Amino acid sequence: MKKILQDLGLAELENLISALGEKPFRAKQLYTGLMQGKKISQINVPANLRTRLLEDYEDEPIRILNSLTSSDGTEKYLFALADGNIIEGVLMKYKYGNTQCVSTQVGCRMGCKFCASTLNGLVRNLSSGEILSQILVVNAAHGGNLEKRAVTNIVLMGSGEPLDNYDNVLTFLKNVSAPCGVNISARNISLSTCGIVPKIYALADVQIPVNLTISLHQTTDEGRARTMPIAKKYTVAEILKACEYYFEKTGRRYIFEYSLINGENCDKEHAEGLIKLLKGKPCHVNLIRLNEVEERDLKTVTENQAYRFLGLLEKGGLSATLRRQIGVDIGGACGQLRASYLKNE
Ligand code: SAH
Repeated sequence: MKKILQDLGLAELENLISALGEKPFRAKQLYTGLMQGKKISQINVPANLRTRLLEDYEDEPIRILNSLTSSDGTEKYLFALADGNIIEGVLMKYKYGNTQCVSTQVGCRMGCKFCASTLNGLVRNLSSGEILSQILVVNAAHGGNLEKRAVTNIVLMGSGEPLDNYDNVLTFLKNVSAPCGVNISARNISLSTCGIVPKIYALADVQIPVNLTISLHQTTDEGRARTMPIAKKYTVAEILKACEYYFEKTGRRYIFEYSLINGENCDKEHAEGLIKLLKGKPCHVNLIRLNEVEERDLKTVTENQAYRFLGLLEKGGLSATLRRQIGVDIGGACGQLRASYLKNE
């Protein structure tokens, strides 16, 4: 596979342009065009420079294969990578802006029992430019104006485990916040992890203060291990300690994702467990009703059950919300769009 042009930050592009003996201003020109989601053929540079770049580099790492818009405005995307792999993404509309959910890997090797992305294991990591380009093409589909971008917030909650692709995700975080490019700052980015403890410490130390989100789903190690194999490697206590370190280093409160699975984690005792574990900590709990995955037999909860559970947490003094379900009419939550596409192929 060719190298990916969007992997390069402005400084690296400047080095490349200088190594090719081109005029320095070409670097900024190319960079601006790429960050607008353009291909080299759409950027006004000399033909021989185009040819030389395309000999070594891929300039269209992500293509929109298909998109669906919900009646509530949510947009779902199916993306094709240059090697033919497929990933998906979502753009969610809120009052304060638009949040894009991006993927960090093709597939995933974490094996969580409720998740569609991991059904066929990990195919490969995405490069930083492939992660970035998901945003570039969505911005471009909305006009590509760098002054007024469609995407204002990012959640790393598509397929893949971001901390299992740590180096590329870190490069992505650096590049996406570059002021002369996409310019989305760390505080508008949420990174979600199943809890790869050493990498939480590493992330805290690099001082890119993204919102740290932990997929908890259970309060005990045994309970967690029933649906999340990673729980056999890192304990809840170790995760909490890493979160506290993250808070000390970045000043950012952390968030726990808790997907409600019927008969598994949403009884009174589970609410009590959460309260005991988290009360007084600088954190927030985000409840989600499980999106049922066809290939798995786990069942979701009713809206009433979910609100009852939320009420228990609030009464116990936790900061918690139930995530509203959006884009329901276009289906395909949590990796299901890709799964159904692959099945039909
Ligand atoms: N690997 C990262 C990002 C995964 S997806 C992580 O584990 O955090 C983002 C969130 O969606 C995670 O909290 C994940 O546990 C949750 N999730 C995955 N499949 C789901 C499903 N079918 N229903 C509800 N939540 C799901």
